[in-house]
Amino acid sequence: GAQRESKVRVRAHFDYNPDVDPYIPCKEAGLAFQRGDVLHIVAQDDAYWWQARKEHERSARAGLIPSRALQERRILHDRTQKNGTDLDSKPGSCASLCTTPPGSPRLPASSSTSSCRQPKTKKIMYDLTENDDFDREQIATYEEVAKLYPRPGVFRPIVLIGAPGVGRNELRRRLIARDPEKFRSPVPYTTRPMRTGEVAGREYIFVAREKMDADIEAGKFVEHGEYKGHLYGTSAESVKSIVNAGCVCVLSPHYQAIKTLRTAQLKPFLIHVKPPELDILKATRTEARAKSTFDEANARSFTDEEFEDMIKSAERIDFLYGHFFDVELVNGELVNAFEQLVQNVQRLENEPVWAPSMWVQ
Ligand code: 5GP
Repeated sequence: GAQRESKVRVRAHFDYNPDVDPYIPCKEAGLAFQRGDVLHIVAQDDAYWWQARKEHERSARAGLIPSRALQERRILHDRTQKNGTDLDSKPGSCASLCTTPPGSPRLPASSSTSSCRQPKTKKIMYDLTENDDFDREQIATYEEVAKLYPRPGVFRPIVLIGAPGVGRNELRRRLIARDPEKFRSPVPYTTRPMRTGEVAGREYIFVAREKMDADIEAGKFVEHGEYKGHLYGTSAESVKSIVNAGCVCVLSPHYQAIKTLRTAQLKPFLIHVKPPELDILKATRTEARAKSTFDEANARSFTDEEFEDMIKSAERIDFLYGHFFDVELVNGELVNAFEQLVQNVQRLENEPVWAPSMWVQ
């Protein structure tokens, strides 16, 4: 189309349903969307209500969505309420969440509290007092996105994230086994002593504790962890050298690594490897063990509690980082999950995909 419109597109990091929004000036004018949807912003003139279309419904009428500023206030408001210290409870100051008609440039100045409906605090599914609280973007609202076009010979790292046991490492191994010249994982660093039979630089790059501590401190590791008193980790430099060699770097780190990996320099393609529903999870792993097709499930059997934990931690990963994933891949039958992984990797090589606009310069 030759239509000249604003080129601003954002990915929503939250679900929005105007029907249950007490602040929208006109529910019928609202545009419902879900976390992950790409929205084409048509107008941002109003401070509190933007007008938008969904990327795939470009011919539909534009609808009202909360502006970034309004959504930020709403989230902060919900959080302070949850903590029992409602910063907005001073008379007059709750105006920040009152209805503004579209087009109105500012919120009503300190009106009396009685005219303001207090928002219902949304039930928060997870206890945000844990450390992870700060892993969830302080305020997840909208992220400006643009299409990132594939470049011949330059491959974005594929990062497989998932709850332990769901099979992200297995999928990584299979991808590498399929074409080891093309798909590679960095050799991790460790501070533990070399074992007989190991070769320096093959299983691990062996380094002194002081050196690795300093390098972690200096931000040179995209992920690291401690196991039985020794440090293990993957350096950003090794990821970059795989990319520079024209190969596809494949990683399957702990989900907390998303924070450090998700940079304009590395441009990772993030895949959440999710468990299927409980009964399918159990059935597929039992069957895989019987047939010896699933290395990870083969190594040991899982208890019912472990299966339930996998589902719970997948939900937690989704809650904390769901808005960052490019793809969600359900690992029920391993062959199907692997096939989907391969398709996504091929798609990434051939088609533009949405990415943070900061990465597309
Ligand atoms: P091992 O010392 O027996 O070779 O490895 C023990 C454990 O170290 C592995 O099971 C894994 O949990 C951890 N590990 C190995 N490589 C890495 C890595 O690159 N990063 C992190 N965070 N942990 C690793």
